[in-house]
Formats: sequence, structure tokens, C-alpha cells
Amino acid sequence: MSYSYDDQNIFAKILRGEIPNDTVLETEYSLAFRDIRAQAPVHVLVIPKGAYVCFDHFAQEASDAEVLDYVRAVGEVCRMEGVEEKGFRMIANAGEHGLQEVPHLHVHILAGRSLGRMLD
Ligand code: C5P
Repeated sequence: MSYSYDDQNIFAKILRGEIPNDTVLETEYSLAFRDIRAQAPVHVLVIPKGAYVCFDHFAQEASDAEVLDYVRAVGEVCRMEGVEEKGFRMIANAGEHGLQEVPHLHVHILAGRSLGRMLD
């Protein structure tokens, strides 16, 4: 599958500095910031800076350095936010059925309360 990237999506605007964000961590290839509609005491989004729609797109086209940076950024955010002790949830919504609202790859890191069962 090939992917086309909409450079007017809201995270592209955040990356260009056109929209403010509450940054938690910035690395060479990744950015983590607090979700504006937090669903838990900790709700951080981690995105690659590159123009990728979803994990498949990222896995196909990102360089090894971008992939490594992204995985390490996710881990570092977990450490910084102290979520490992009590636990957390990491979610990536993808596409139409996944109800992905913003078409730029992102994972949600949610923590700070019991998150309930996700799958019925
Ligand atoms: O995974 P999904 O695409 O549905 O989630 C997008 C997330 O981006 C939402 O949780 C929304 O609150 C968040 N968002 C944000 N800052 C914006 C626009 C959306 O944190 N300016």
C-alpha cells in the first residue's frame, strides 16, 4: 500500500510551529507533547517529525535512525512521566476503522489512573 501525506494536518502544523503545543520531549526525529483533550492524568502523544501517516508507512520509509529515535523517545517519555511503576496504556489509532483523527503517526501514552478493560 502507498500512502499520501496531508501536510495540512494538525500535527504537521504543530511540527512547523504554526500551532502551539505543550512539549514533553523533543529529539532529533521525534516530538512528544500533552494531548489537549487529556483522557487521563498522563496523556502524551509521541510523533515522528517525518511525514508518516501510520506505522506501516513509517516502517517502509523511515530511516533506521528515525525508527530508533522514535522507539527511544517513547521509552524516554514513559520514564520521564513515571508510568512504569503503576502501569500505562499505549494506543495507536489507525485509519478509518481505528478512528484515527489526525493522519500523522502518533502513539498515545495514557497513565495515572486505572484505565479499564479496552476490549469487550
Ligand atoms: O488517535 P487520534 O488521531 O484519534 O487522536 C488525535 C489526538 O490528538 C486526540 O486525542 C486530540 O485530543 C489530540 N490533539 C491534540 N492537539 C491538537 C489537536 C488534537 O493534542 N491541537
